Amino acid sequence: MNWREQVRKVEPYTPGEQPKEQNVIKLNTNENPYGPSGKVKECIQDFDLLRKYPDPTAGDLVNALADYHGVSAEQIFVGVGSDDVLGMAFLTFFQSECPILFPDITYSFYPVWAELYRIPYQTIALDEDYQIHASDYHRENGGIVFPNPNAPTGQLLPISEVEDIIRANRDQVVIVDEAYIDFAPEGSSALSLVDRYDNLLVVRTFSKSRSMAGLRIGYAIGQKELISYMQAVKYSYNSYTMNRPSILYGCASVKDEEYFRETIRKIISTRERFTAALESRGFSVVPSSANFVFAGHPGISAETIFRKAKEKGIYFRYFRLPRIDDHLRITIGTDEEMDRVLEFLHEEFNL
Ligand code: PMP
Repeated sequence: MNWREQVRKVEPYTPGEQPKEQNVIKLNTNENPYGPSGKVKECIQDFDLLRKYPDPTAGDLVNALADYHGVSAEQIFVGVGSDDVLGMAFLTFFQSECPILFPDITYSFYPVWAELYRIPYQTIALDEDYQIHASDYHRENGGIVFPNPNAPTGQLLPISEVEDIIRANRDQVVIVDEAYIDFAPEGSSALSLVDRYDNLLVVRTFSKSRSMAGLRIGYAIGQKELISYMQAVKYSYNSYTMNRPSILYGCASVKDEEYFRETIRKIISTRERFTAALESRGFSVVPSSANFVFAGHPGISAETIFRKAKEKGIYFRYFRLPRIDDHLRITIGTDEEMDRVLEFLHEEFNL
């Protein structure tokens, strides 16, 4: 047999565009417009730090996160962005011949990992308002994963419904991907359920609320046993996933609660103002609990707005996919950036 027939062929995930030009308004990959905490900058000096291997357990960062969330260090798994953590979780927990479940409209990396690891999967349709219904997940499965708030819709599933899914599937691992949870109302996180459910894994990232997408830090919290299985898989693959700067800067960020809360507050306030402005221009906007909005206009196609905006140096995310090709996902930037977007809509489309 020719080697080409033995290659593992996969259709890779397509990340959002990273434009080379400066001076664009970049609202296409849900980055945070405010920089990381100043405390991170203060500790960027020790050049010699790069000479030695990092601590394979990333102990300092794990301890900082354990303190922050009030859990034990053995309940935390850290990785190179939440993509790494999620990929590792798929590899560790989704072994069944029964399909794993996730929503039809969701983070488009899930089907890619499923294909990569040859995990059977089934998608569950969101309703016409893009909502998840917990009762749709009361069926036989090999595991469940969903983001909360969901992406690219930004819609939040109430914690009672999240718990319903976890409770109804106690024999399977349920992964709640909380990449955007810091922009949701207090009390929305599934972290409060970790003590009670040994089948729950909550995944978080430093890329959005902590403004550190460039550093690549993600983590998961679950009960000790669940985390131990992920650690075993990680140490069978690459012991040094977290580099020394990530561990150091990650710790500095976790210790600056004031700055963290302040940037989140600003983004939420801009989101609410921008949502109201879009609605007053005739857009329908899915209620967002994230740092982006998902919006469409009945009179102008999303693709037209997307293309025109790009010509003007404003980047949104557009998905040419069934059910969502009439919407744009727009990251919440600074107030000034969102004002520029509104001006653009007025200038180009008289909205
Ligand atoms: N989950 C969701 C729902 C996301 O939108 C993203 C961002 N692409 C991620 C996980 C991964 O983020 P990161 O790897 O930067 O932590």
